Amino acid sequence: MRLPRAAVPLLLLLASCAEAPPPREFDGAAAFGYIEQQLAFGPRIPGSAGHARMKGWLDSLARARADTVILQDWEHVTAKGARLQLRNVIARFNPGASERVLFLAHWDTRPRADAPASRDSTAPVPGANDGASGVALLLGVADALRKQPPAIGVDLLFVDGEDFGHFEDSTETLVGSRYYAAHQAPGNTPLYAILFDMVGDRDLQLYKEGNSLLGAPEVVDRVWSTARDVGHGASFIDGPKHTLTDDHVPLQRVGIRAIDVIDFDYPHWHTPDDTIDKVSAQSLQVVGDVAMAVIRRAGAK
Ligand SMILES: [Zn+2]
Repeated sequence: MRLPRAAVPLLLLLASCAEAPPPREFDGAAAFGYIEQQLAFGPRIPGSAGHARMKGWLDSLARARADTVILQDWEHVTAKGARLQLRNVIARFNPGASERVLFLAHWDTRPRADAPASRDSTAPVPGANDGASGVALLLGVADALRKQPPAIGVDLLFVDGEDFGHFEDSTETLVGSRYYAAHQAPGNTPLYAILFDMVGDRDLQLYKEGNSLLGAPEVVDRVWSTARDVGHGASFIDGPKHTLTDDHVPLQRVGIRAIDVIDFDYPHWHTPDDTIDKVSAQSLQVVGDVAMAVIRRAGAK
């Protein structure tokens, strides 16, 4: 956890002589509860019982919060012949608005914990951070938008099939984002898209990601400058580090200004140890505050 402690007295001082800061809309503790709930389903591997339980839960939570829910259901066949029943869930707020932003996260988890650092490459990945944290972030945003609807349109996209196998095999990974990119409604392109992946690490360090800086540098700038403005500049670090193939790349390929907010400095990535004790409500709070500020600022223009 890295809170900008030095900034707190200054903020209090400013608050006392200027307008009060806006109330905190995003509830990090509630979002943490969404991670716990997902882990209780078991691994969310396509075809598993945990995947089926998660599918129903996600659908019901989206319907209770959004104005409109669109489901994309399809059968996907991998190059190795696995037949997967996959689902993307799109929770839409203010669906009539022509100016829209898109937030996305993957809801599936990886079948095998096959990272070089893994102590058991046959075990599934629990996915507290890699899977559940991004979903929890989006559901926390959905809670806030249900209480106070956005001035712009907001689509929350939960993609399936991100992490089924090898990233060199396009039929095993990023499947849901590829499907979404290929099946967008005409004229529905968002102003920009932000992918939230592995945003729950207790030791949160969000560097600027390389493909985001190449494909949509102005969106990176918007998010990182917003983070600085709301006091989270210690977690949103002003510099590049990793370059990653993630769900933002298929979206970029169809012309969406998409970036990846990801903490890839996570030693438990693709291991059996990606568990609840490695993530925190505080980290979700930091990213959730920034996500909400991005939405509210976009609507204030
Ligand atoms: Zn993964």
